[in-house]
Amino acid sequence: MRISKMFFKTFKEDPQDAEIKSHKLMVRAGYIKKQTAGVYMFLPLGLRVLHKLENVIREEMDKSGACEMQMTSLLPIEAYASRVEHFGKDMFRLFDRTGKEMCLGPSHEEIFTNVVKDAVTSYKQLPLILYQIQTKFRDEVRPRFGLMRGKEFLMKDAYSYDVDQEGLDKSYNLMAETYKKIFNRLGLDFVIVNADNGSMGGSASQEFMVKSNIGEDEIIVCECGYAANTEKAECTFVEEKSNVEKKSKKLTHTPNLKTISDLVEPLGKKESDMLKAVVYRIDNKQTVVALVPGDREVEETKLIRAVGGINIEMASVEDIEAIGSVAGFVGAIDLVNCKVVADNSVKNMVNFIIGANKMDYHYEDANLEDIKVDLFADIKRAQAGDVCARCGRTLQSIRGIEVGHIFKQNTRYTEELQCKYLDEFGKSNYMQMGAYGIGVTRTLSALIEQNADDKGMIWPDEIAPYAVEIVIANVKNSEQVEMAEKLYNQYLNKGIEVILDDRIDSIGAKLKDAELIGVSNIIVVGKNTADGNAELIVRKTGEKQVLSFENLMNMSWK
Ligand code: ATP
Ligand code: MG
Repeated sequence: MRISKMFFKTFKEDPQDAEIKSHKLMVRAGYIKKQTAGVYMFLPLGLRVLHKLENVIREEMDKSGACEMQMTSLLPIEAYASRVEHFGKDMFRLFDRTGKEMCLGPSHEEIFTNVVKDAVTSYKQLPLILYQIQTKFRDEVRPRFGLMRGKEFLMKDAYSYDVDQEGLDKSYNLMAETYKKIFNRLGLDFVIVNADNGSMGGSASQEFMVKSNIGEDEIIVCECGYAANTEKAECTFVEEKSNVEKKSKKLTHTPNLKTISDLVEPLGKKESDMLKAVVYRIDNKQTVVALVPGDREVEETKLIRAVGGINIEMASVEDIEAIGSVAGFVGAIDLVNCKVVADNSVKNMVNFIIGANKMDYHYEDANLEDIKVDLFADIKRAQAGDVCARCGRTLQSIRGIEVGHIFKQNTRYTEELQCKYLDEFGKSNYMQMGAYGIGVTRTLSALIEQNADDKGMIWPDEIAPYAVEIVIANVKNSEQVEMAEKLYNQYLNKGIEVILDDRIDSIGAKLKDAELIGVSNIIVVGKNTADGNAELIVRKTGEKQVLSFENLMNMSWK
């Protein structure tokens, strides 16, 4: 490709709405262009890297035995049956000219399952792993970071169907291995974390997280290999016998001191001396009071797992009054019509401060005996510095970008859609299903987050838009043009992916662009031409080398 003929424009300035380097660089290098919030066009270079990434994923998926097909993005709303509510406003909904309600697919569990249901009847046709690389639509509340969180994005989604749990375990492990191969091949530094299944049902779920400070997810990791996102990370609990003498609780006037930090100075106590009470409504029918030490946070996902339910929200002022308390002064003494759930570590607290369920009052020196707890569970959020539940070492916290997610769905969808097979005894059973996603466009961003410097992108060889770039220093110099053209044609004939910068522009500007777009090898055909030489610059290291044309003609760039 000749840059003079290509649709190509780079920008010196970062786009105003860009906060992270992958977003800035992709726009500046002319890889992508914003259509509207969360929606991006792919320009020639962007499309090339996207196709290359797709191909790495496709090759590994095919090698695993998975079978590629393509569902539609435009779907009748009833295809999502019970999940229309779950997706809520995230789903793009529209009407066709006959008034039939349609939507744009945010995920395709039901769609694949219906296809399988109609075609697969016998255990002899199983197991099956089907996949597609397809545009997904989600009306994200906060689209941001360029391709990282879009309203329209490319996903590789796969679905496995097996006769039993053992089969599902095998398919799931095969996909986990395939994902490891894909992300290793891309040279990404990633961790696999145990994740919460959320409201999607099923028995296991893991996320593939690319390590990055700009990642939206916090991950708790340990040297022993334990890694979990904070929604799932376990906290250890060891009961301690305290020698401190338990006192009797006393009512203390604490006007306007509503938060834990408000109380620290006036009472001369530490946050950990207080019992934090947070009130939630679960599925809009049950009020739950969660108790954790004052210096810790409630992990809502762990709480809902402990009490059961789907939807968790902060309780309103009225909800708090209905349990006999007052917002800002909630405690666990004399509450009505609610369930009190305390974190295990609360068992070790003595002589603590707790809300008195009365405006402007707290109790000091309260103890476990004073409060009524319905359930003790692990509900506090794990944090760096905690003790690892597996090995006893100290946990650390890192940030990650979720590029892949694998789930065991079991019969969540196959029961709902009556997707069954006949076993060898002629008995009808539900298929066991798994679902496996890779955010393709998000992975491109993650690749740049891990592979860039202040000059621009540095693509891994397999993803780079071209293997080699030839830059003509001065297009008015016929000798340079002649040699560069010769080299260019030689590479083209050899099937090497080459791009030629033949623009009428300064060498400085052309080199800046070359570094920005991140092609691994840059050959500058300039003043050395007279001696039969050109300069090779290795983008990653900046290393420069003078090589003869003869030598360069024989190169086989990969
Ligand atoms: P997130 O927690 O980031 O919102 P998710 O858990 O909703 O993602 P999944 O339904 O598991 O996402 O989708 C599979 C993969 O698709 C994710 O692991 C992620 O890489 C990618 N993905 C999800 N939402 C987006 C988005 N809005 N833009 C780009 N990629 C996305
Ligand atoms: Mg996910």
